[in-house]
Amino acid sequence: MENNPTNSNFIRNIVKKDLESGKRKEVITRFPPEPNGYLHIGHAKSIVLNFELADDFNGRTNLRFDDTNPSKEEEEFVKSIKEDVKWLGFEWENLFFASSYFEEMYDRAVLLIKKGLAYVDDLSADEIRETRGTLKEPGKESPYRNRNVEENLDLFERMRNGEFKDGEKVLRAKIDMSSPNMNMRDPVIYRIVHLSHHNTGDKWCIYPMYDFAHPLEDAIENITHSICTMEFEDHRPLYNWVVRECEMESTPQQIEFARLNMTNTVMSKRKLKQLVDAEVVDGWDDPRMPTISGLRRKGYTPAAIRNFCREIGVSKNQSVVDERMLEHFIRQDLKEDAPRTMSILKPLKVVITNYPEGQVEMLDADNNPENPELGVRKIPFSREIYIEQEDFMENPPKKYFRLFPGNEVRLKHAYFIKCNDVIKDEDGNVVELHCTYDPETKSGTGFTGRKVKGTLHWVNADTATAAEFRLYEPLILDEDTEEDKDFLDQINPDSLEVLNGFVEDNMKDAKPYDKFQFYRHGYFNVDSKYSTNDKLAFNRIVSLKSSFRLNK
Ligand code: ATP
Ligand code: MG
Repeated sequence: MENNPTNSNFIRNIVKKDLESGKRKEVITRFPPEPNGYLHIGHAKSIVLNFELADDFNGRTNLRFDDTNPSKEEEEFVKSIKEDVKWLGFEWENLFFASSYFEEMYDRAVLLIKKGLAYVDDLSADEIRETRGTLKEPGKESPYRNRNVEENLDLFERMRNGEFKDGEKVLRAKIDMSSPNMNMRDPVIYRIVHLSHHNTGDKWCIYPMYDFAHPLEDAIENITHSICTMEFEDHRPLYNWVVRECEMESTPQQIEFARLNMTNTVMSKRKLKQLVDAEVVDGWDDPRMPTISGLRRKGYTPAAIRNFCREIGVSKNQSVVDERMLEHFIRQDLKEDAPRTMSILKPLKVVITNYPEGQVEMLDADNNPENPELGVRKIPFSREIYIEQEDFMENPPKKYFRLFPGNEVRLKHAYFIKCNDVIKDEDGNVVELHCTYDPETKSGTGFTGRKVKGTLHWVNADTATAAEFRLYEPLILDEDTEEDKDFLDQINPDSLEVLNGFVEDNMKDAKPYDKFQFYRHGYFNVDSKYSTNDKLAFNRIVSLKSSFRLNK
């Protein structure tokens, strides 16, 4: 049975054919992160692909930590990866660690030795690299290549027992030093590393290499379709060799797809770690980071990320996705769900001189005209309010419809006001406006006497809640973020702007991750790190409009 048949892509077609032809009885996929950093939006593409593919055919997906490298892996990353996958809305069938297969991997390596298909090599890493040959020239066979089985078994066991130093010996597969595929030229499959491992402690001092370990992990878990990114395409013959020669019962199939690249975004854990370590950002979850935790803290929803991943699709062609496409999906998700409120990012005080002192009235404000279910709230109005500094100009250009001396505008949900006096400080800066209001023009009473062109948002000065607003621009300046340019030279010095202003008093109890649309300013999320009991901090998730349109 097939769920969601409209989710078509080339991998899905392969799976469908395999099930129809009886080649496979079920679909089992896996998401196999190395726990050496936090997950990013590129991983989300792989997560959505693997989990939804299996789910569409009533299959299963494992979360597997590919923890075969002891030097870079940490518990913190394991924890965050689990949290992020769950938060994205996916449930794994099994949680596995590649390190729990070390014993079996060792046995399979012994099997290769016994079959004359692996040997212990004493060449150094440099010597191995130098004798590998080039695309045009075959490699040179190692002088240790023809050690006999007994000697290899003995040396490999002594490698395991810790008798040798790092780099002193390796285990290599014995395949073909003149293969046109460089990956088949006797690849190293085990190396010596005297380091504690986060799961196995000091039990091992030899660790399997990715190209040997990964196919075995897949086969041990009965993975049917092992989906990975394009750079592993040339490794596929080796993947199949390992599964076959290690005599694995289960034969997973490797299928490659193009990784996600995005404009103005670095997408490798290594680089993201550099940003964290150099304190360019305030952590892996900084809202400027393309990590899942950064996007979550900024205010992204799981649905927006999943919809983005579905829309970008799956193919073998490398491309760069416009980051504004991701923004499109969060706007779409929040349009109806987020209450619309009035917040002032750069306040300018307005005194309504003909409004009675001490009087406060409560006005009706709908929470979201596109979603009546969100209802209506009451907002206070009195003699002193704040408007946005940019909504006033003393000497406006033509077609400026907001406030200027002598002009009348509408206050959203309230009255018309007219500007009469401009109060300045000693330096000539505008510090306050004196206006009058017309009681006849109250919003919702159907006043039709005259029209005004501008509508301003505002907050009641007395009751407004102080708030910090954190506005973001791309962290990376370069549009195409080429792989080999030093990306630390491309950091945008203005990627964060912090403003202090006000939100409506009814928002004072907002909690981290509550989301709002602020009139004219965009969608905002209560920040989990900088909000205090005295002051809320809001991250701008995205502005209201963009020039970007989906090609549909
Ligand atoms: P990075 O270069 O960021 O460290 P990686 O590929 O080394 O990425 P892993 O933890 O090994 O990271 O990746 C787990 C899974 O996520 C792999 O199957 C990998 O192919 C996939 N993946 C990683 N980056 C992307 C990306 N940009 N687009 C799609 N899939 C990705
Ligand atoms: Mg990696």
